[in-house]
Amino acid sequence: MTSPVWHPYAHLKTQTPAPKVVGGEGAHFTLESGERLLDATCSWWCMIHGYRHPRLVNAIREQAGELCHVMLGGLTHEPADRLARELVRITPEGLNHVFYSDSGSVGMEVAMKMALQYQVLTGHPEKQRMLSLMKAYHGDTTGCMAVCDPEEGMHSLFSSLLPEHHFAPAPKAGFDATPDQVALDLAALREVLVRHHHEIAALLMEPLLQAAGGLNMTSPEYLRGARALCDEFGVLLIFDEVATGFGRTGKLFAADHAEVTPDIMVLSKGLTGGYLGHAATLAHDRVHDAFIGDSEHHAFMHGPTFMGNPLACRVALESLRVFEEEDYLGKIATLNGLLQRELRDDKTLNGHPDVADVRVLGATAVIEARSAQALKGVGDFARQRGVWLRPIGRFLYTMPAYITSEPEMTHITDVMKAWFLTRNA
Ligand SMILES: *Cc1c(COP(=O)(O)O)cnc(C)c1O
Repeated sequence: MTSPVWHPYAHLKTQTPAPKVVGGEGAHFTLESGERLLDATCSWWCMIHGYRHPRLVNAIREQAGELCHVMLGGLTHEPADRLARELVRITPEGLNHVFYSDSGSVGMEVAMKMALQYQVLTGHPEKQRMLSLMKAYHGDTTGCMAVCDPEEGMHSLFSSLLPEHHFAPAPKAGFDATPDQVALDLAALREVLVRHHHEIAALLMEPLLQAAGGLNMTSPEYLRGARALCDEFGVLLIFDEVATGFGRTGKLFAADHAEVTPDIMVLSKGLTGGYLGHAATLAHDRVHDAFIGDSEHHAFMHGPTFMGNPLACRVALESLRVFEEEDYLGKIATLNGLLQRELRDDKTLNGHPDVADVRVLGATAVIEARSAQALKGVGDFARQRGVWLRPIGRFLYTMPAYITSEPEMTHITDVMKAWFLTRNA
């Protein structure tokens, strides 16, 4: 009998049965068949410590023996308080307030509601729309779908249901671009703001790495320019660091590359090391303080049942400790060197007729194929060679766990290259 489990993003008619995972260790997971697969994606980028990390598993066990869950409405607990203090410590100066929720999408919904209410409370009730970027992906809930790329994004079916927001072109200048190249992107952003700022509450973006929307890698200079434009036009700046947070771009947060402080910042995926679903929306003092007042509109009307879940907070605290004690930024730098050498600098790969571009940033690498068709079958090809790869459209990428060893990383890059270079040889 086929399983009643309905899989995400799957065509039910053509999908092949999903292999059953029975366990994992480090960068590998194990299938029922006994196959061990090296996970090149660390499970949608969240399992940054790999599978069955003893310290993370222990943290959950210990917390489970004390307190598994309690509501955050009117109550608090040690893990929620301690994690909030840690998040304030490690994020840019001024982000001093933490609103918990249970997933990246909900964390973004919270950010958008917060921005809109901030504008109402500070005397700008006409600022009701968001400004997003083309190629953006911010989640699959209704509010989030409305700020995903409306053309290439996967939510066009629902457009009549969604509020209409504004979009600026996706930045084209890459990570190392000169200020002149970035100026063109910023001019395009400015143009939208000049026309529509009176109705825009916030500009939201995935800083430096537009992830699910096509692994578009952009410049720290763009973040600085966006910050200045937001200040000029009375628009809040929201960084969706759900994918980029916790080291993915080479620094703890993408914001750190630019030394830019957003007004609101959203964290999820790597927050708990992937061991439990959770998210945090951090607010700057100036946003938070606008909510201090006497009217009924001053309360923030949001409160997911599982916000601040003690198990999730406790494992997030342990994840952060391991990250800092074991020099994860050093590990990420090593992986980055390897990805540059093996993929970005490989002349044959870059010259292959099916390859449009090869990009690397932090512990992220993508081979952009000329079409999705050119990647048809790559998942099976990789699996036969002991690697789990799952491309997004025409983008074949790796976002490995940071504990991936150099030989393991090389195995992954070898398989990615082999798909293009040796398959038909
Ligand atoms: C994955 C992702 C989300 C959505 O997070 P979920 O936990 O899947 O709801 C939002 N923004 C970005 C940038 C993401 O990569």
